[in-house]
Amino acid sequence: MTAKLEPDAVAALLNTNKLGRRIVFSESTASTNADAKFFGRGSAVDGTLFLTARQTAGRGRRGRSWLSDEGALCFTLLIRPEFHMTLAPRLVIACAVGACRALRSYGVKAEIKWPNDIVVGGKKLCGILCEADQKGFVAAGMGINVNQKAFQNDISQTACSLYTETGEEHDMNAVAAGVINECEGLFALCASDEGYAGLIGEYLSMCATIGRKVRVIAPDGEYEGEAVGLDAQGRLRVRCDKGRIKVVNAGDVSIRPAEGQKKTEEN
Ligand code: ATP
Repeated sequence: MTAKLEPDAVAALLNTNKLGRRIVFSESTASTNADAKFFGRGSAVDGTLFLTARQTAGRGRRGRSWLSDEGALCFTLLIRPEFHMTLAPRLVIACAVGACRALRSYGVKAEIKWPNDIVVGGKKLCGILCEADQKGFVAAGMGINVNQKAFQNDISQTACSLYTETGEEHDMNAVAAGVINECEGLFALCASDEGYAGLIGEYLSMCATIGRKVRVIAPDGEYEGEAVGLDAQGRLRVRCDKGRIKVVNAGDVSIRPAEGQKKTEEN
């Protein structure tokens, strides 16, 4: 049996200066992002880690639910950026690279699905939700499937965990600390254009979406095209018919493999 999630055990594994130096731990909470936003509007310090053993009402983008059954790791980092909040979208790029690096260290072929998921063989291993608050901070939340043996019906075909991919249980404390340790340096890169350029380079090298045929599911309809890159704001550039480029905002859409692409991936 692997060790259970303990704030002291996570703290002991951190090699950070700021991230996770304060930990707000709960046995159960509705959403660690909601907690971070509540305490962020008060006096919670930069880098505070909101960690829970059980999240009961986690959210994805556009209010969709994030399921956190036993074996799920859920936490949120409160970031009070030293840079202007217009650059806050850079933090989701940093979180994705940090999570992907840390999860690859378990020997899984983790890749980034633009904008905010980590997938293995197309199945979601980790979801990231970065929410900027008007008070000038960001709640950077992650849900990582660590030790789930199986998933509920509606995500049973689309989700995976470190357990399902490696065949063994993993120490949640080490997974949490591993991701947070990667993130500190990556968050610092967001402050400068040069740093961010390097970060985007690594993101692209890990990104399974770029270079693929994708189906974009937007509020005003669906279309297919080839994901050809990101623009300076981290939006996805999709080449549609006749070479027309559409720029896709992360907040608005879901991305699926295009019909033809799905067949290629299955072969
Ligand atoms: P997509 O539309 O491709 O699922 P998304 O990034 O738009 O991606 P989010 O809103 O970020 O999705 O995440 C919510 C979705 O993730 C849910 O609708 C569900 O399909 C899926 N999901 C929820 N919980 C989990 C989980 N623990 N593991 C994997 N997938 C999950």
